[in-house]
Amino acid sequence: MKIYKFGGASIKDANGIKNVLKVLREVEIKNVVLVISAMGKMTNAFEKIVDAYLTDIKSLTDKIDAVKKYHYKVLHDLFLKNTHGIFTEVELLFFELHGFLIHNKQKDYNFVYDQIVSQAEQLSTKIISAYLKENGIENRWLDARNFIKTNSDYREARVNWERTQNCIEKIKNNSTLQITQGFIGSDRNNFTTTLGREGSDYSAGIFAYCLNAESVHIFKDVQGVLNADPNVFKNTILLEQISYTEAIEMAFYGASVIHPKTLQPLQKKEIPLYVKSFKNPKNKGTTVGKGVSLKPKTPCYIVKENQILLSISTRDFSFMMENNISEIFKLLHHFKLRVHLIQNTAISFSVCLEDKYLTFETFLKELKIKYKGLYNKNVTLLTIRHFNKKDIQQIEKINTVLLKQTSRETVQFIMKKNTHLES
Ligand code: ASP
Ligand code: MG
Repeated sequence: MKIYKFGGASIKDANGIKNVLKVLREVEIKNVVLVISAMGKMTNAFEKIVDAYLTDIKSLTDKIDAVKKYHYKVLHDLFLKNTHGIFTEVELLFFELHGFLIHNKQKDYNFVYDQIVSQAEQLSTKIISAYLKENGIENRWLDARNFIKTNSDYREARVNWERTQNCIEKIKNNSTLQITQGFIGSDRNNFTTTLGREGSDYSAGIFAYCLNAESVHIFKDVQGVLNADPNVFKNTILLEQISYTEAIEMAFYGASVIHPKTLQPLQKKEIPLYVKSFKNPKNKGTTVGKGVSLKPKTPCYIVKENQILLSISTRDFSFMMENNISEIFKLLHHFKLRVHLIQNTAISFSVCLEDKYLTFETFLKELKIKYKGLYNKNVTLLTIRHFNKKDIQQIEKINTVLLKQTSRETVQFIMKKNTHLES
């Protein structure tokens, strides 16, 4: 079997969805599971519904209306008659959402988030499934929550592989195109869970693993995996071929092209991953596979903005020992602060953090009970894989570097914002 995945940017409007139809007419669709995420920026729009519901109820109707309007516009652009069954199905999904908002008693942000935000994927997959059917592509719509089974860590749920494997087993021998949602799963109580932002690549990886798929194809708005983010760098190069390890390293340092968790399940079963353009699906794009060397061999640049550089020392200037470090890490983990770089000296310990869940201030209060903490907010972390000397000199010449760390293949800089990455 093969897994195809289309992300939000590829289905942001009716034309995007028409393009999915076009792509599917050009490629093999027998024995395919199609994983789809929310349309365009709809996950963000649903997040606004969550915020309104929990903290600003006055604006709730507006936020829901915005999302409704978006989807109904797409529906009217795709289907000539509003008597088509999909209109009722979409209405039902909004009805379900209202039902949840009225009856829910839970205040836990993460729980509420997953129940609400997951509707975006329900909507996109229902619409696409209906549109493909309407245009002669037979398909079966699957609710991913019946297949991807997780624990109850809402917004960052962990997959229960055994249960997931058992459930996915059931769709193994189906040659009809099957369409399902990325990003979402369910826990033991059948509440919806999500796998972390941008998690639908990961869903594709999970289906591939459990189905022993022959390949995974991710269709994107870029030609494939590039050596740098084209929104930041002027001159980017398409990587024709990279190894799983290379891709894992790049994702770990923050390259946003493939969700980091996607690669491990694929690597375990040596399932090749093709990242290609949804505009030119016939182009080869990037192949991620086992043990292949980077081609072309070129430096890769990964930029992460809006980081915090925090230097921690003991109040009495005693050495930073294992016990301190382990205590600090427990705290970082507790506050879900993601660490992107670590540097240790005798009396201080520096970390580069991402405050994804806006917990930094509370974390800092707790940290300061025992430690001193100095920090710079809004710094940029630049990682260069396969760097050359010229790169380093150039970066250092034109930027204020706050911290630098070099290993054999990788150099990392933490720099003040408004950095110049190209001269
Ligand atoms: N829709 C989800 C998000 O935007 C998952 C995904 O697109 O991968 O985070
Ligand atoms: Mg998305």
